[in-house]
Amino acid sequence: MGYSDAGMAKGEAKPLIGLTLDGLRRVAEVCGMPRCAAGQMARWLYEKRVGGIDDMTDLSKEARRRLKDEGYCVGREFPLSEVRSADCTAKYLFRGAGGRDVESVFIPDHDRATLCVSSQAGCKMGCKFCMTGRQGFHGDLTAAGIINQIFAIPESPTLTNLVFMGMGEPMDNIDEVLKALEVLTAPWGLTWSPKRITVSSIGKLDSLRRLLDETKVHVAISVHSPFPAERESLMPIEKAFPITRVMEFLRGYDFAHQRRLSAEYIMWGGVNDDMRHADALGRLLRGLDCRVNLIRFHAIPDFEHQTASTAVMERFRDRLNELGVTATIRASRGEDIEAACGMLSGESAGETH
Ligand code: SF4
Repeated sequence: MGYSDAGMAKGEAKPLIGLTLDGLRRVAEVCGMPRCAAGQMARWLYEKRVGGIDDMTDLSKEARRRLKDEGYCVGREFPLSEVRSADCTAKYLFRGAGGRDVESVFIPDHDRATLCVSSQAGCKMGCKFCMTGRQGFHGDLTAAGIINQIFAIPESPTLTNLVFMGMGEPMDNIDEVLKALEVLTAPWGLTWSPKRITVSSIGKLDSLRRLLDETKVHVAISVHSPFPAERESLMPIEKAFPITRVMEFLRGYDFAHQRRLSAEYIMWGGVNDDMRHADALGRLLRGLDCRVNLIRFHAIPDFEHQTASTAVMERFRDRLNELGVTATIRASRGEDIEAACGMLSGESAGETH
């Protein structure tokens, strides 16, 4: 399907993708269409995945004209570029916000095909080990910008899992992330099971509560150190939202929806990889049904710490398992194309389409 409205003047165009059914009802009202037109538009956008308003053939010609006159477009955009890793991981560059591009990473793995999506261009959180954090904040993606990443890649029909672990802190753009999740999981939308979607957070509690209350997706918390001062030296957010408070909140939350909670833990040699850390992490997670993902670190410029060795990571994992905490070492993917965890900068020099 061609993107027949792709040539519209961007600044003025108002994308329809990313709109919830309520949002589409408002559009229908503005354009003098009957209420039921919202459902018709949702079907064209999310089930048929059309590229342009003129493809919505069960809307009257007048309705389609009004939509275009009001500045609406479907809003699908092709990736600006793409690079592929030796391990078949692919990194796509998209127009982001504030003049900065964003990246999504496609990760095929046996019978799983995961897309790691971005929610912001840049990030305000300033984690010291992260290339996105280094570039500062440039703007929030809209729900359209988030959904477009999922739609636009050639592997879209094969996707089995989505992780909101790309550029940005999803909780810092909670309204648009929630809209995107509603579109993804609603029966009138893309009908994804929330069990196939994981949203990460560094623990911005106000928005995290909304995510938990308003969705059933899995949640991954970036911990990286169980010790407050050490965590703060890596992740300044610790000051505003201490990890002990985040875990306390999660411990008191009713996880009745069988959603999965996980803790992300990047391991640096000689920094957070000894048994003292494993024991403290075990204590931090006590009483929570929370698995730990241990992650290798991929060197970035001007960050002095290096990844922990495999042997140390295995000992750390075994220690956590002894403490009754399920821990696994996450396979590393896409390092050669700077698509691995913490390496996304929105500055790929890929093959331009
Ligand atoms: Fe932002 Fe996540 Fe990078 Fe921290 S790790 S700076 S929250 S993108």
